[in-house]
Amino acid sequence: MGRAFFIDKDFHCPKCGHKLDAASHSDGKDHAPEKGDVSLCFKCAAIMVFDDRFTIRKATPEEEEAIMRDEAVRQVYDAILWANEEP
Ligand SMILES: [Zn+2]
Repeated sequence: MGRAFFIDKDFHCPKCGHKLDAASHSDGKDHAPEKGDVSLCFKCAAIMVFDDRFTIRKATPEEEEAIMRDEAVRQVYDAILWANEEP
């Protein structure tokens, strides 16, 4: 993971309600998120999209479908679910 960038202070995951106040690049790059970048909740892997550099929203069903066809995203998604699996 790259450096964490702080986002909207009061943003909560639309799916699990987890407070999300920072984002970091899954490929280790050190740049801030850009409009259209995909974000996954690190608690429940909910799929979200950056509207601009520091605000995110839940992906639409159409976006989710397209995003999940991306193998790299899919791997991170699976890793989050695996890491947060109840024992
Ligand atoms: Zn979540």
